[in-house]
Amino acid sequence: MAGEAQSDCLFCKIVAGEIPATVVRETADTVAFRDINPQAPTHVLVVPRAHYPNAAALAAADPALTARVITEAAEVAAEEKIAESGYRMIFNTGAGAGQTIFHAHVHVLGGLAFHEGLV
Ligand code: 5GP
Ligand code: ZN
Repeated sequence: MAGEAQSDCLFCKIVAGEIPATVVRETADTVAFRDINPQAPTHVLVVPRAHYPNAAALAAADPALTARVITEAAEVAAEEKIAESGYRMIFNTGAGAGQTIFHAHVHVLGGLAFHEGLV
C-alpha cells in the first residue's frame, strides 16, 4: 500500500528508531535529522514518516503531508537561525539527479553564502 514502511529503506529505519540519527524535530508525521555527511554548516533532512520513493510521488499521493514536510523544513531553518540569511530546500528526484535514498526527503541547507557561485 502507498506510504507503507519498506524493510529495505534506510530512512524508514531511522523513522522507526532502528538506526540512530541526530533528530532535531519530530511531529506526528514527519522527522527531521542531521545529514550524516553535511554539505553546509546546517544540513538537515526532513522526511515524512510514510514511505514514498521521492517528493513527486509524495506530492501526488498526499499534498497536505507534502506541505507539512515543507513547513517543517522552514521550522528547522528558524530553529537553526538560517531563516533570515536564506537557505536551500532541495528535493533530489531520481538517481540521475543524485538521489541515493529513495524515501522522500528535503535537504535544508544553510549557513553558507550560496549566492556566491554555487549552483
Ligand atoms: P539524496 O542524495 O538521496 O538526496 O540524499 C541522501 C542523503 O542522506 C545524503 O546527503 C546522505 O549524506 C544522507 N545519508 C545517507 N545515509 C545516512 C544515514 O545513515 N544517516 C543520516 N543521518 N544521513 C544519511
Ligand atoms: Zn522509507
